[in-house]
Amino acid sequence: MELIHSTEHGLLDAQLELWHNTFAFIKSMALKSAIDLSIADAIHLHGGAATLPQILTKINLHPSKIPNLRRLMRVLTTTNVFSIQHPLAHGNEPFYTLTSVSRLLIGGSQTPFTALVLNPIIVSPFFELGTWFQKHELPSDLCIFKQTHGRAIWEMTKQDATLDALVNDGLSCDSQLIVDIAIKLHGAEIFKGISSLIDVGGGIGAAAQAISKAFPHVECSVLDLAHVIAKVPTDTDVQFIAGDMFDSIPPADAVLLKSVLHDWDHDDCVKILKNCRKAIPPREAGGKVIIINMVIGAGISDSKHREMQAMFDVYMMLVNGMERDEQEWKDIFSEAGFSNYRIIPVLGVRSIIEVYP
Ligand code: SAH
Repeated sequence: MELIHSTEHGLLDAQLELWHNTFAFIKSMALKSAIDLSIADAIHLHGGAATLPQILTKINLHPSKIPNLRRLMRVLTTTNVFSIQHPLAHGNEPFYTLTSVSRLLIGGSQTPFTALVLNPIIVSPFFELGTWFQKHELPSDLCIFKQTHGRAIWEMTKQDATLDALVNDGLSCDSQLIVDIAIKLHGAEIFKGISSLIDVGGGIGAAAQAISKAFPHVECSVLDLAHVIAKVPTDTDVQFIAGDMFDSIPPADAVLLKSVLHDWDHDDCVKILKNCRKAIPPREAGGKVIIINMVIGAGISDSKHREMQAMFDVYMMLVNGMERDEQEWKDIFSEAGFSNYRIIPVLGVRSIIEVYP
């Protein structure tokens, strides 16, 4: 047998790598199909392990789809969304089981965030990212979202109830997961001595409700745009305020900004933080801003975390936002008049940052 020359090996490896990057969207779309078809719930309802015919009955598909469903599940098991167990007896159907990933999809727990990111309204602007780079004389507010849809995302959510719900539900499910973790890991320390908190750009109030539940003595309120506040739940202790964070922020001991500052450029972040500073008391009286966002380079430094931070940063190009490293955060804090900050890099790819007046 003739040995393949190392150059040929190298070329095949290179093409494999190229194809991996090219076909990465198949992973996303297979995941989206699994969500659209409620496959995780079907397996869960079957006690956590189900054969293809069993899954098919639960999700109400025609039996003729079994061969194609098997192909879809082959991708979803290689990507660790589900796992497969082959029975000992030959000829029996394999079982598909839930993984820690698909457990996050049960009951729609984390599905709204994935549904948001993989919605065509969000994905389509990225087809024109290259074109955006090539344009020289851009108005500074022309992000790829606006380039594709003709208006800024927060303008569109005002007019498009479907997109508004997609954003509110997507971020809300993320807040439920991450804020609960933040509370369990560092809540006692972060919320010590605070008697009131305002969640600025707090959406429909998931974070504020979690904090209010864990720390009932903290008076929690949410500031967001009027069309978002129009959709908030009424059966809660949290107070909702319609307003614009660029105009003013109602007073509180602490301001929370979760997944907000990464939507904005440096100058806008400075404006928001200056308003936060006006809203809180001095440091000695407990005044602080609590940010939940990424600090690029902080936290666990394996390739999965680093790759996720790099990808999320490019994802934020959608709205001319960005993920920031420590120096970029530091520049914003000092320009907004804050004296000090502390990074608590405990939320996976994200961090908690406390900023002090
Ligand atoms: N903090 C929430 C939502 C983050 S999404 C969470 O993580 O779950 C960003 C939020 O900022 C949206 O709810 C959006 O409506 C809000 N927002 C955008 N512009 C705003 C403005 N000018 N004033 C107040 N809120 C604003």
